Amino acid sequence: MSNLSLQVLRTDVSGMPMEWVNYQDAARLYHGEQVAYTCGEPIYVIHGGINAHSGLRSAIEVHSIIATHGNNRSLYDGYIPPLNNRALFRRDANLCLYCGKRFDRRDLSRDHIKPLSFNGIDEWNNVVTACKRCNNHKAGQTPEQARMQLLAIPFTPTHAEYIYLQGRQVLADQMKFLLAHFPRSSPLHKRLSGLT
Ligand SMILES: [Zn+2]
Repeated sequence: MSNLSLQVLRTDVSGMPMEWVNYQDAARLYHGEQVAYTCGEPIYVIHGGINAHSGLRSAIEVHSIIATHGNNRSLYDGYIPPLNNRALFRRDANLCLYCGKRFDRRDLSRDHIKPLSFNGIDEWNNVVTACKRCNNHKAGQTPEQARMQLLAIPFTPTHAEYIYLQGRQVLADQMKFLLAHFPRSSPLHKRLSGLT
């Protein structure tokens, strides 16, 4: 219970997942009395100063999920997360969506299904994870032209899905919490349901 590298899932007061925070930020939120309530397991204890009167040392038990005051409705509907390879590769489970094999991150690339040279757009619905070999083979062509078939349909993650995709080491209770916020149709359910 003392691994300070664990990330804390911060939600708004309605329980909408907002972001990952590190232990310093979590401590600041507790000290600033911005924590409305907590969920999940306690993951570490942060010690503060010694009280001059009581001689006791303050300690804050930090939970894996903390809800802070206020809410941020702009994250609920119509939110489009920024596109980056780290989250994209995780969306596609580090699989090349053309040959279906799993690769290390450094051997993966971002493929534009409709190539940029064909006015394809650099957005979630037009990009998939591809190994470098498949990407080179496809080059500036559409999948039809290159006679390659996509193994899954790309999708734009919701805010809650995006938080999951960004997580470094998602704890079981955080996972369960995030899964409950994914859309029912989320392709991530199938992949992750066995993990909780
Ligand atoms: Zn491939």
